[in-house]
Amino acid sequence: MIRRAVYPGSFDPVTNGHIDIIKRAANQFDEVIVGVLVNSAKSPLFSSIERVNILKEVLKDMPSVRVESFDGLSVNFVRECKAAAIIRGLRATTDFEYELQMAQMNRVLDEGIDTVFFITNLQYAYLSSSIVKEVAKHGGDISKLVPPPVERALIMKYKEIANGQQN
Ligand code: ADP
Repeated sequence: MIRRAVYPGSFDPVTNGHIDIIKRAANQFDEVIVGVLVNSAKSPLFSSIERVNILKEVLKDMPSVRVESFDGLSVNFVRECKAAAIIRGLRATTDFEYELQMAQMNRVLDEGIDTVFFITNLQYAYLSSSIVKEVAKHGGDISKLVPPPVERALIMKYKEIANGQQN
């Protein structure tokens, strides 16, 4: 039986912290599907198509990992993928309460699906998509926080926004 897992999230944009979790998940599962949530409550900087394309570019050398977008409940997407596990990353205790509640709710929705948590590497514990966007927006160096395609996409996106504001 193929052991398949889904890593759902906003990935707006993907950071080195996410990539570390994806690599470690790929070591534990035969296949990992990165699920990009289309309609999250947060209003994203990148469209879901942009987020998927960036992830595909960044993960192109990992044959057991694929990227898809989805809408609605994670458990429904996990079932469609014929996967039995949801991957989530845990950074600090602040992530824990929310992640615990979500994992428990997902078990209620489908008890055939388990959430597997990966504890972040210390070097990425401070890293989030939001903080990367904040640094990039103000012209700070993000080269150690995200892979080169993400750095390029962020610089371009903030240039576009700045140009738009001038017009
Ligand atoms: P969501 O909007 O679903 O929280 P994110 O893209 O922000 O989506 O995060 C997806 C998952 O990755 C979450 O489980 C989150 O805790 C985890 N994650 C985010 N940043 C890191 C990081 N630096 N190290 C490890 N896990 C992380």
